[in-house]
Amino acid sequence: MTGPTVPLRQLVLKVHSRCDLACRHCYIYEHADQSWSSRPRVISQETISWTALRLAEHAKKHQLASVQVILHGGEPLLAGPARLRAVCEALTTALHGICALDLRIHTNAVQLGERHLDLFAEYGVRVGVSLDGDRAANDRHRLFANGRSSHDKVLRALALLDQDRYRHLYAGILCTIDVRNDPVAVYDALAALRPRASTSSCRTPPGTNLPCDPPAPTPRTPTGSSPSTTAGASRDVRCRCGCSTRSSAPSAAAPA
Ligand code: SF4
Repeated sequence: MTGPTVPLRQLVLKVHSRCDLACRHCYIYEHADQSWSSRPRVISQETISWTALRLAEHAKKHQLASVQVILHGGEPLLAGPARLRAVCEALTTALHGICALDLRIHTNAVQLGERHLDLFAEYGVRVGVSLDGDRAANDRHRLFANGRSSHDKVLRALALLDQDRYRHLYAGILCTIDVRNDPVAVYDALAALRPRASTSSCRTPPGTNLPCDPPAPTPRTPTGSSPSTTAGASRDVRCRCGCSTRSSAPSAAAPA
């Protein structure tokens, strides 16, 4: 069956192929396909230049109003500020006068600091941060290789991102939902971080036959609720895998 061709408008650009975390649920590093280990660690200047050129040609040919480019990895911050600047500059220059550029980065934020955020402010790069919820939920999978928690470092980075000078760059939180976690604790922990949007993907425990919908949060009594939860209006929290959880959600946690 054929249908109309839809020109590509979103590009995920992997700028670094290693990671400083060793998350147990990682679909790159923790599964059978280990081909990442033979790939170059960091994107080359040649690849940056060709990517920018071809994307500009594509946008011009299809008269696109905008394209979205998401800098990804591995962990994209490992590419370093200089290489990230080269990527931002090449894309911005190539698309200037052709179409708008919606530039983003998805990071585990372990190393996210002012030197990165100043660069992102310069190029308007919006930042999505991976965090799986409260400490217990996050530490189920998102650990360093030596088993240490990444939670404190990510919270520090999110506090920086939430400062007035960087808040406009704060795109949201990417959360992998493990149905063994307390959904209300996960939700409240994420909502307290004031994301503009959240994107989630569900993970069912190995060997189980659960649906991909995580259990809907149980309403709490006012004394047991965070202000954000009690004040929220009912809305859908949509997962990347397409499932949908009905919840009492604050406006901060709109679907990505
Ligand atoms: S931060 Fe992302 S890329 Fe790195 S190990 Fe965790 S899931 Fe994998």
